[in-house]
Amino acid sequence: MSLAFISIMSDLRTSFPPEANEPLAQQFSQLISGIQQYLMQERDLFGNIIYHSVEQGSTRNALKEKAAGDYPAEPWAGTSSLGELNSMICECQKCSLGATRTKFVFGVGNPKAEIVLIGEAPGADEDAKGEPFVGRAGQLLNKILEAIHFKREDVYICNILKCRPPNNRDPQPEEVRQCEPYLWKQLEIIKPKIILCLGRISAQVLLKTADSLTKLRENVHDYRGIPLLVTYHPAALRRNPNWKRPTWEDVQKLRKMYDEMKKN
Ligand code: URA
Repeated sequence: MSLAFISIMSDLRTSFPPEANEPLAQQFSQLISGIQQYLMQERDLFGNIIYHSVEQGSTRNALKEKAAGDYPAEPWAGTSSLGELNSMICECQKCSLGATRTKFVFGVGNPKAEIVLIGEAPGADEDAKGEPFVGRAGQLLNKILEAIHFKREDVYICNILKCRPPNNRDPQPEEVRQCEPYLWKQLEIIKPKIILCLGRISAQVLLKTADSLTKLRENVHDYRGIPLLVTYHPAALRRNPNWKRPTWEDVQKLRKMYDEMKKN
């Protein structure tokens, strides 16, 4: 969408060249040029889908509206168990990652988990084993969970994408578009009480926003009626130990929210 839009903007700008020397035409040309620049920057950062921030109430409504009937008309959409869902989608070839994966990485953990952790996409270790977060980032994730007195088996862990992108590159918009409905279905079956997004990409995809991780960490978001928290990706923490402290604060917040919920 943004590509087409950028080119429309270009056409509009040439229809109102600044050299027309009319103040209105000049202002319009500047405005169009600004919008065009913004869109090109967004495209470079996030690919060919335009994400935008909306205020909380309307985000909730938009997502609720979207929740009904947005699964593709495919047999797996009617399943009611994770095992059945996995067996129906594990041969997926909807995007090019189907051809390059070793194993489909569905998800792991308690099928009735009250907390679901969502990462970005499988890496090499996960692709080889068919299980999310089993490499070094996964070991750190296990420690983070232990720090708030959860075991890996208590929660459910999955990713936005079920197949590994080559060289661990970022998920592409088309891959997300094809794969995200599987995650919606997983969440519909599990019915978690809290979601924790691991890293910027997972949060941006789920919340349909381009906000920074710093901003996303500030709030408890609403994802289809489920409170959603955001923290650093364990792989990022390994690269930058300065983020361990804020991650610690985020997961403490998660633990507190969970304990409060259990009291009520
Ligand atoms: N990084 C992720 O986002 N997910 C995994 O499963 C492993 C590494």
